[in-house]
Amino acid sequence: MPNKIEKNDATWRAELEPEAYRVLRQKGTELPFTGEYDHVFERGTYHCAGCGAELFESEAKYDSGCGWPAFSAPASTDAVEEETDASHGMVRTEVLCAACGGHLGHVFEDGPAPTGLRYCINSVSLKLEEK
Ligand code: FE
Repeated sequence: MPNKIEKNDATWRAELEPEAYRVLRQKGTELPFTGEYDHVFERGTYHCAGCGAELFESEAKYDSGCGWPAFSAPASTDAVEEETDASHGMVRTEVLCAACGGHLGHVFEDGPAPTGLRYCINSVSLKLEEK
């Protein structure tokens, strides 16, 4: 497992753009169909916007129509962590960056084969490094 990146709240707030701070550190959600990567399908690797860890590969990205970037799998099984999220009157599975604990989005079981998973991820939590 990668080392956990520990920074205090004031440091994250100073380092991140306000919207990235709101989503990554306060578990916010960007408005649907507004994110930078919603309809981007360039080849490359999506890194954590908070710490730079590799999170998703463009090969796993698909157009789910849900309004946020969707991936069928993470770049590696230890790139992300999952936790039960019972907020907002729903039980969902939250997806976090394994390295810095930043909130990325949620994973749902309505994705394409072979995983059947849809990692529904906020654009603002990601930074695409094109190949
Ligand atoms: Fe991170």
